[in-house]
Amino acid sequence: MARLAQTHGLTDVQQEILATVRDFVDKEIIPVATELEHRDEYPQQIVDGLKELGVFGLMIPEEYGGLGESLLTYALCVEEIARGWMSVSGIINTHFIVAYMLKQHGTQEQKEYFLPRMAAGETRGAFSMSEPGLGSDVSAITSKAVKEGDEYVLNGQKMWLTNGGTSTLVAVLVRSDEGHPEGTAPHKSMTTFLVEKEPGFGEVRPGLTIPGKIDKMGYKGVDTTELVMDNLRIPANRVLGGVTGRGFYQMMDGVEVGRVNVAARGCGVAQRAFELGVQYAQQRQTFGKPIAQHQAIQFKLAEMATKVEAAHAMMVNAARKKDSGERNDLEAGMAKYLASEYCKEVVEDAFRIHGGYGFSKEYEIERLYREAPMLLIGEGTAEIQKMIIGRRLLEEYRFQG
Ligand SMILES: Cc1cc2nc3c(=O)[nH]c(=O)nc-3n(C[C@H](O)[C@H](O)[C@H](O)COP(=O)(O)OP(=O)(O)OC[C@H]3O[C@@H](n4cnc5c(N)ncnc54)[C@H](O)[C@@H]3O)c2cc1C
Repeated sequence: MARLAQTHGLTDVQQEILATVRDFVDKEIIPVATELEHRDEYPQQIVDGLKELGVFGLMIPEEYGGLGESLLTYALCVEEIARGWMSVSGIINTHFIVAYMLKQHGTQEQKEYFLPRMAAGETRGAFSMSEPGLGSDVSAITSKAVKEGDEYVLNGQKMWLTNGGTSTLVAVLVRSDEGHPEGTAPHKSMTTFLVEKEPGFGEVRPGLTIPGKIDKMGYKGVDTTELVMDNLRIPANRVLGGVTGRGFYQMMDGVEVGRVNVAARGCGVAQRAFELGVQYAQQRQTFGKPIAQHQAIQFKLAEMATKVEAAHAMMVNAARKKDSGERNDLEAGMAKYLASEYCKEVVEDAFRIHGGYGFSKEYEIERLYREAPMLLIGEGTAEIQKMIIGRRLLEEYRFQG
């Protein structure tokens, strides 16, 4: 995009990476995205291309074979990719969260074993907190691990795993009572297990079943699944960080960077919707002139572009805050909340600009219209973001009187 969503102060390396990704999106993703999405087809060729570009290892440190880039670089790449097709950014996102959690919390052995494989895109990550009975309320998790000798035995059912079928490593959050007496706060008695498995569906490891793809209204192409653990045996050295009881904090840390990532997706989808709207508005004629010349449509375009700019600025701010080593929960929550709401609004305006054609599957905006709602839910709903933002504001602005 020529004018909107520019980011100042990028290094030459960042600019080069972004230009390469943008070029890939324009040539390899946009031309095929809608067709693949309608067929709900996994974009293997695109994934292979992104592997070659090193996108799967973008934030993994160089010593483990990655590019060692910042959260900002990563988020800007995600924004570009989502502009092309949101599902592709979903394929990368859970992988990125698991790699980040390993980098931050893994034992040395876990980092050395997993990160180089993840950087190469050979091992692909998914993360699993949600269950059929809970999503927002993570502390209500019922899946359980019980220690038996040098192993843990896991039982329970998980829900909504993005990349559940295609991944080969799932970070699974379960309750683990071992070492945590009765009455321990739920978030202090949860553990993240690093579960390796074969890709595909059915029994992908003894005791572990991925039943099949959930049929979704949008966000197709990328697989979203359930996961069933029936006496799944995991060795003790696959507890993330080697110590039980820290899973809740590890997952929340992962989700915090994931939120910047979802904000970036909202920015990318909104940008694409604006591009489609502004182009269509100059081609479609009513009452003797292009609809872009009617003030009501110009106002719509003005509102859409302002939202694209505002969301981008907040997303960049949240990423930079994390990169500087500071806590960014407030900024990430605000960016995720604003970018996802604005994305939905910009997409709806672009849809309206298309008139009846927006309802036709031949037009790209139809796909975006089904994709945008996912961003209102994933990595925490708007209500959950507002709870985080509100709590943090009351900490910062504590009444001193
Ligand atoms: C396509 C897709 C992919 C996903 N991928 C993953 C994944 O990879 N891994 C994973 O673990 N999960 C994943 N999820 C699950 C997602 O994180 C949850 O759906 C989300 O957190 C919301 O949880 P829920 O669906 O159980 O809704 P609920 O928690 O049941 O919420 C229902 C409604 O109540 C509101 N609400 C809940 N609590 C409060 C409160 N205290 N105050 C006010 N309002 C409240 C919510 O905002 C929402 O509007 C995915 C979901 C989807 C749709």
